[in-house]
Amino acid sequence: MMEEKRILHIPRERFPDLLERKIYTMFPGGRRKVFTLSYDDSQTCDRPLVEMMRKYGVKGTFNVCSAQIVDDMPHQLRPWRSMTMEECVELYGDDMEMAIHGAHHPYWGRMPSAQAMVDALEDRRNIERATGKIIRGAVYPYGSYTEDVKQILRLLDIQYCRNGQGSGKTQIPDEPDWLRLEPTCRHKDPNLMKYADDFLNVGGYLLHMFFVWGHTYEFMVNDNWEIMEELLKKVSGREDIWYATNIEIVEYLKASQQLIYNLDMTIVRNPTDKDIWLRIMPKDILICVGAGKTVTLPD
Ligand SMILES: [Zn+2]
Repeated sequence: MMEEKRILHIPRERFPDLLERKIYTMFPGGRRKVFTLSYDDSQTCDRPLVEMMRKYGVKGTFNVCSAQIVDDMPHQLRPWRSMTMEECVELYGDDMEMAIHGAHHPYWGRMPSAQAMVDALEDRRNIERATGKIIRGAVYPYGSYTEDVKQILRLLDIQYCRNGQGSGKTQIPDEPDWLRLEPTCRHKDPNLMKYADDFLNVGGYLLHMFFVWGHTYEFMVNDNWEIMEELLKKVSGREDIWYATNIEIVEYLKASQQLIYNLDMTIVRNPTDKDIWLRIMPKDILICVGAGKTVTLPD
């Protein structure tokens, strides 16, 4: 009984209420939302999309088949074709991400594991040699994968692999399966503009990612480039949205999970090479924990 009384008399200010103090990860600049695109197969008709993205100040990822065999139709029957690596490097530049999509675009999940490994590795090496960059993003060709394929990507140090048609959601899960990173929707989804409106209007403190994917030849086949123009007009140029490539988002979120706190949540150490933004509630204080820094959190 005496023991219990003694504990109850510890001054409250020496024992901050852990549950009252809430710390939320924010995106760079204290933003809560991010918008990104992901387009597959590195075809020449990516050019109008890249130009449109630069015009509206949005960023994204282009998933490259570096052995250039995604040609299921003779060139003369259509006005686009697979790009060479030189064309890819010239078009995507330094602002867009180039990611792995299978050098030969095979069904990784339906072939011997060693073959899938060689194909993924070949694509990574081709893109790295052409760009002089480290490439760690991927998309499953045809969405085909197995647990063995995921393990191969882990061993190849791939940080994320996009898969799935789209969840219709923008809220980022507590523990995303990075090697099965699900986008929000395809651009041809009839609910595209509804998802965009929901994303623009969503409140709260949790992080949201609006992630749209597709193939640019769909715009050519359906003659509907205006869908993308309408989407980018709607979501671009907003202070509260971060515009980033897929790998920038994944690397930022992974870095944010490496922050180290004391139990009272008064000290935080950032061992990563990225500045990480936090929002501290209930006082609603925004802070940036610099790369490699240890910071005392405000009360
Ligand atoms: Zn593809």
